[in-house]
Amino acid sequence: MPENNNPQSQHSRGTLLLVGFGPGSEEHLTFRARKAIEEAECIIGYRTYIDLVRPLITGKEIIQTGMTEEIERASLAVDLAYQGKTVALVSSGDVGIYGMAGLAFEVLSDRGWTGNEITVEVIPGVTALSACASVLGAPLMHDFASISLSDLLTPWEVIVKRLHAAAQADFVVALYNPKSSKRVRQIEEAQEIFLQYRPVETPVGIVKSAMREGESIVLSNLSEMLTHPIGMLTTILVGNSQTRIFQNRMITPRGYQRKYDIHTGERLAKRTAP
Ligand code: SAH
Repeated sequence: MPENNNPQSQHSRGTLLLVGFGPGSEEHLTFRARKAIEEAECIIGYRTYIDLVRPLITGKEIIQTGMTEEIERASLAVDLAYQGKTVALVSSGDVGIYGMAGLAFEVLSDRGWTGNEITVEVIPGVTALSACASVLGAPLMHDFASISLSDLLTPWEVIVKRLHAAAQADFVVALYNPKSSKRVRQIEEAQEIFLQYRPVETPVGIVKSAMREGESIVLSNLSEMLTHPIGMLTTILVGNSQTRIFQNRMITPRGYQRKYDIHTGERLAKRTAP
């Protein structure tokens, strides 16, 4: 980003902070995210998210909107920054993962932002797949894919194609936005697709509200996953062919046991080609 050496204009230049505040609990908010929220004069976010950071934002201008008003929220944040304010646009988890960061840049592009008019900083957070993996054990220890089942912005055919590709390639898969009161069929179809490539006993972790009030953690499998409650606040982790359950935890081995004796730590002799 080009330097701005004029103290006068630096002072008046607005700042847009795109902040991911993690899964919800304050303990999992990064230092930079907390500082950014403190620095901001104005906080903009989806109502439920504002409630999650409420204790940190007393005395600030707060603009909360409903879920479908994302474009309005992003435009407003950009406008206020252009007026010289320090604005935090907040998203849960990571702001750049199914969050508001991309939309903010689209609005900036629409306004003709050259990189100089306002300062823009993207501040990462603990995303749902990471929070959910932690409470389940270590299911993402090998290659994984993340797929959102929401077809509000992505055509369902594209999502289906990605589900097939990830399932076939034996990726561990994190499913964001698995189901809402209006969207119930997608998770059923996703299950059917996985069952074409993976055994019924493949471990599936179902986590609701990880690291925030109302947390629920369920260990299930591909055939029974839909017998458990799934909703808007749930992320589902589908294991790969190596994933197993150990002491009530979901574990995907990295492959050490193929190369080392886990008991002694010694490297196993190289297998010779047949
Ligand atoms: N930017 C967010 C994702 C927003 S999309 C992030 O990086 O986590 C909304 C979806 O995220 C929800 O439908 C759910 O699948 C998931 N999600 C967000 N917070 C969650 C939490 N605390 N526990 C479980 N899933 C969560």
